[in-house]
Amino acid sequence: MHVRSRVSRTVLPAALTLVLGATTVSASAPADARAEGKDAEGAAYDLVIRRGHVIDPKNGIDGVRDVAVKDGRIARVARHIDASGAEKTVEARGEYVTPGLVDMHAHLFPGPKQDYANGWHGVAPDGFTFRSGVTTAVDTGSSGASNFAQFKEEVIDKSKTRVLAFLNIVGKGMAGHPYEQDLSDMEPGPAAKVAKEFPETIVGIKTAHYNGPEWDPVENSVAAGEAAGIPAMVDFGADSPERPLSQLLTEKLRPGDVYAHMFSGLRGELGADGRLNPAMHEGRDRGIVFEVGHGGGSFSWDVAVPGMQEGFTPDVISTDLHISSMNSGMKDLSNVMSKFLTLGMPLEDVVEAATWKPARTIQRPELGNLSPGAPADIAVFSLERGRFGFVDSFGWRVDGNRKLVAETTVRAGEVVWDLNGQAAPEWHPGANPPENVAGDHEH
Ligand SMILES: [Zn+2]
Repeated sequence: MHVRSRVSRTVLPAALTLVLGATTVSASAPADARAEGKDAEGAAYDLVIRRGHVIDPKNGIDGVRDVAVKDGRIARVARHIDASGAEKTVEARGEYVTPGLVDMHAHLFPGPKQDYANGWHGVAPDGFTFRSGVTTAVDTGSSGASNFAQFKEEVIDKSKTRVLAFLNIVGKGMAGHPYEQDLSDMEPGPAAKVAKEFPETIVGIKTAHYNGPEWDPVENSVAAGEAAGIPAMVDFGADSPERPLSQLLTEKLRPGDVYAHMFSGLRGELGADGRLNPAMHEGRDRGIVFEVGHGGGSFSWDVAVPGMQEGFTPDVISTDLHISSMNSGMKDLSNVMSKFLTLGMPLEDVVEAATWKPARTIQRPELGNLSPGAPADIAVFSLERGRFGFVDSFGWRVDGNRKLVAETTVRAGEVVWDLNGQAAPEWHPGANPPENVAGDHEH
């Protein structure tokens, strides 16, 4: 079906393997060689990813580089880094190395209830993030002021994935239809108060699923965002003539606020003439951020194809991950990114829309880039070539010929996903167990 272009990684010559016998294959360069791999502080690197094609839009890097990691942070990105003293190396020749992806739209508050707030529509982050190159995931409104503490304790604090949150303007969060229509539980005060209590985690305010004619959910979200100094994200709910899309994008939202589900077509994004609503362009000119938020019902080829032909590319490519979107056309972030490759968006722009742009949108400039000192959150992809089918939220397939596949994901310097074991030493008879392998060995 497809041909992988990956060049084989370095392996020990057979003779050397025999000589080493039952000792080890994992490390052990001579002392003077180790010195070569030391950084300015004099300690060897923990990890060097070698010879991959680095795409780091913030730093304008688009070419073959080595990336060195030390103490959970990016130590250096350069054309050649001596890896001889490094504890671990990954040969990434023929692959792409990017900042760990920032998925700006996900539902990560699973539990026994029926909806997204402590409910079974949500997913546990670590099971679904690393395998697609995601190291930071932003929950978009699953929790609100009255259940954020529970979300933080049960999910955010326990996850290896960096989980951030847009707090729902609804106090109970996404607890289901009647609760999300209750205007009396959408006060900006409590939302702003909780957002200010947890500035390290809460990056925005969310409104979603509101069906009534009132502007209150949008206005209160913007007011709470204004009070806390963070953006509002609007899922505009049911289309309503009393509150048209044009007014939202040209009057109600501030520059830096986020319009979710940009290619859904459900709220007048596309006109009857087959062109985008002019308000979309006006909103972009004003600095509104447009995000994909693919989900189970919010990405239509009918809108995305003409929209992209008008040059209306997404600012942020995101998933709207939940149990039904991941099992239908959306699947995961690397799959959604591949859809935009198929739509003609250059790879560098696709990577930027899933790294540096979401990081800036949520005002976290330390994320989504590989600057020295930044958290060592890194994704390594192969770009497979062949024939691949991409399905939208309405069941229609478009074929493409390139697909991003997450090979190795690093979170805070630790390998947390390694599809083909390229961070692992090759087994041989009598080998000692390798150190630092990903996974939980207690069970
Ligand atoms: Zn959502």
